[in-house]
Amino acid sequence: MHSDLLIVGAGYAGSVTARELADAGHRVHIIDKRPHIAGNAYDELDEHGVLIHRYGPHIFHSNGERIFEYLSRFTKWRSYEHRVRGVVGGASYPFPINRDTLNKLYGLDLDDAGAEAYFERVREPREPVLTSEDVVLNTVGRDLYEKFFLNYTRKQWGLEPSELKAGVAARIPVRVNTDDRYFTDRFQAMPLHGYTKMFEAMLDHPNISVELEIDFAELRNIDRYQHIVYTGPIDTYFNYCYGHLPYRSLRFEHEHLPNVQQYQETGTVNYPNDHAYTRITEFKHLTGQTHSGTSIVREYPQAEGDPYYPIPRTENESLFKRYEELASKETRVTFVGRLAQYRYYNMDQVVGAALTAAKQLIG
Ligand code: FAD
Ligand code: UDP
Repeated sequence: MHSDLLIVGAGYAGSVTARELADAGHRVHIIDKRPHIAGNAYDELDEHGVLIHRYGPHIFHSNGERIFEYLSRFTKWRSYEHRVRGVVGGASYPFPINRDTLNKLYGLDLDDAGAEAYFERVREPREPVLTSEDVVLNTVGRDLYEKFFLNYTRKQWGLEPSELKAGVAARIPVRVNTDDRYFTDRFQAMPLHGYTKMFEAMLDHPNISVELEIDFAELRNIDRYQHIVYTGPIDTYFNYCYGHLPYRSLRFEHEHLPNVQQYQETGTVNYPNDHAYTRITEFKHLTGQTHSGTSIVREYPQAEGDPYYPIPRTENESLFKRYEELASKETRVTFVGRLAQYRYYNMDQVVGAALTAAKQLIG
């Protein structure tokens, strides 16, 4: 048996690192302040027996074969390609914007080349492309920007698109064909029995012990660990010595609809301009579960609450860099994950970051 390590946080960052270290012969103790493992990917049966994602919809997608194969050690998969509609003026359209979106919205009959020419005509060229406003205006022009992006972004972030870095809106492609999938990654799938079961399998190892509902800040006797892997917010670790790093939060409103087979046509429907919530997700689309009723979640963005999203702005990244500088001096601690690295990571990217961190630790 090698050394003892402490891992703070049982989400992807903590659990993947824990498993790698355990497989390499280290003894690992993993803690989480929540009463469950799996971090924000946590899913559970609601009181009506429908599998739901407590912290909002999680759809696995990746181009990384190594990452997909890694997770495949702990779960079988169900193929699933996510589709989203955006509601504008009371009608719903394919989103991301594609040729069908244009044709339906403007009563056109464009083919691929026609759609390309349309975007070319309406786009407002920007050089350089620095902000999320630049990204969208530069590709689809003002009308589509105002209909699909402007108000959604205001709601989601409490900021103007011009105040957010380009990478936020650049997550959303624009298509001239009729592909209406949200993602085009090579691997798109849901864990067959859910994320929590996948995490249970990952953490099921004789070298791993798990302790829930314990905050790192309350932990005594941490000196007995040779190394710590910390996956919580980096500013909290350093007691906010440079001030708070902004994170965006959400309130999730879950609802079960008895005797409703299907509530909406796609897994998620976005409401850029109406309501205080950004989107509604119906879980049965994602999981393929059969049930006499259905369960949905509405996402209400808010400033206060659990930190869910790092906010990609230059000043926030500068502040993060200062914390990162401190982190680099903590030789006994490794910082990894969406909150510790202050990056708008998808699940697969966190798995990649954790595999890299573990490799460095194992040496
Ligand atoms: P987390 O999952 O946040 O885990 C960190 C853990 O650390 C938490 O469980 C927390 O309780 C614990 N912790 C923090 N501080 C302490 C402390 N002091 N003491 C003890 N424990 C502590 N990604 C996708 O790829 N596809 C999607 O469809 C997708 N949808 C998303 C939807 C929403 C609404 C959100 C918010 C995120 C979504 N993501 C999605 C991103 C995905 O959730 C993250 O990439 C991933 O879960 C991050 O893993 P992590 O381990 O870094 O962080
Ligand atoms: N976005 C938008 N309108 C939409 C969907 C997304 O303006 O209908 C913008 C918004 O700024 C959002 C970003 O694109 O924050 C990224 O969207 P994504 O669906 O990837 O966000 P996530 O699933 O991470 O919340």
